[in-house]
Amino acid sequence: MKIVAKFGGSSLASAGQMKKVADIIHEDEARRYVIPSAPGRRFSDDTKVTDMLYQCYDAAAAGEEIDEKLQQIKSRYQEIIDGLALELSLEEEFDVIGDYFKRQAGRDYAASRGEYLNGMVLAAYLDYKFLDAAEVVMFDEKGSFDSEKTNEVMRERLKNMENVVIPGFYGAMPDGSVKTFSRGGSDITGSIVARAVRADVYENWTDVSGVLVTDPHVVANPEPIETITYRELRELSYMGATVMHEEAIFPVRQEGIPINIRNTNRPQDKGTLIVESTCRQPKYIITGIAGKKGFCAINIEKEMMNTEIGFGRKVLQVFEENDISFEHTPSGIDTFTVLVHQSEFMEKEQSVISGLHRAVSPDSIDLESNLALIAIVGRGMKATKGTAGRIFSALAHANVNIKMIDQGSSELNIIIGVRNEDFDAAIRAIYDIFVTIQL
Ligand code: ASP
Repeated sequence: MKIVAKFGGSSLASAGQMKKVADIIHEDEARRYVIPSAPGRRFSDDTKVTDMLYQCYDAAAAGEEIDEKLQQIKSRYQEIIDGLALELSLEEEFDVIGDYFKRQAGRDYAASRGEYLNGMVLAAYLDYKFLDAAEVVMFDEKGSFDSEKTNEVMRERLKNMENVVIPGFYGAMPDGSVKTFSRGGSDITGSIVARAVRADVYENWTDVSGVLVTDPHVVANPEPIETITYRELRELSYMGATVMHEEAIFPVRQEGIPINIRNTNRPQDKGTLIVESTCRQPKYIITGIAGKKGFCAINIEKEMMNTEIGFGRKVLQVFEENDISFEHTPSGIDTFTVLVHQSEFMEKEQSVISGLHRAVSPDSIDLESNLALIAIVGRGMKATKGTAGRIFSALAHANVNIKMIDQGSSELNIIIGVRNEDFDAAIRAIYDIFVTIQL
């Protein structure tokens, strides 16, 4: 049995947290590959080491003095090293880092040092080997992640290695310079390692007990989801649920490896299992609810539009020419609506309106702004009758007017549009009907 265990920044923010991590790793000898993030926040208004590194590097690039800033970063690590009673000195590493910062080795190099140093500390504490991610995570000349080359190189290097710490978040370009993924990218590294070693499970340890049914800022203490498919998770993340880096799904998905989201502060909780597919029935009819505010609907009306072949294409082409991506296109006999992100649309609205007039000569164009979209996602909906009915009656009871409805034939999700100000009430009503009351 092989487990890849990735630990997020809050799981490694202090010596106390590192001890919890070590206990978790030692509890199961299958946890042979460990991917750390940089130390995160210890309390709510603390600064992540990654952000400290960016600030320090920006100061160096602006020609400012950075000794004090570097010293603060060093203290974060020293506090951990002392708290763990380790005989490890990062003195030389910091000399090199300071030197590279002054020579402006790049922001990616700067940010990557958070994971690099934390990997060294964790490897020393666990008595695991340390493998620099720059040797095994490859980017191409254009800076895109080279998945196949990485998989080959990583698989080869890890073939005869057991018990190893590989820092998350970065790799190297063909010329050897350090390149990072986007923020939160240690999740991707964990997934890449899991694919390369063909792990039985990719554990992603964080500070919540799994993916929650909905946003805890909207519903107090929502329940965690026990099992979710990659596709369901993708729908929920797209609509705003923040769980893992979006791209972290792809490497493990290629090998059908499940991801288990776990809580470092509550290791007794089973967390959420993310799988390719499952026979396990979801606990509730719906798996999760997520949503986003800030959409705008462009309603186009034209009599007999249904007889005009190519009408939809011509409309969408106007959006394409204005470089605006669309989210949904509900349509009627004489109406066609395009839903877009308001922030993208605002500055181009007049150009879109005149473009539409030229392209399809509509009878009228109406705009409706400040709309929110809510996705109700669940593989269980396909086999259940009346899900949409329940959603609509819950919203009617909550006095929420539905502006738009969209359900794809996959029946994996139902998307509804409501006014921005009804967003919270709508999510609570849907959560209550399916989870709290379980009607
Ligand atoms: N430390 C990086 C960040 O703060 C990467 C990560 O934690 O995954 O974004």
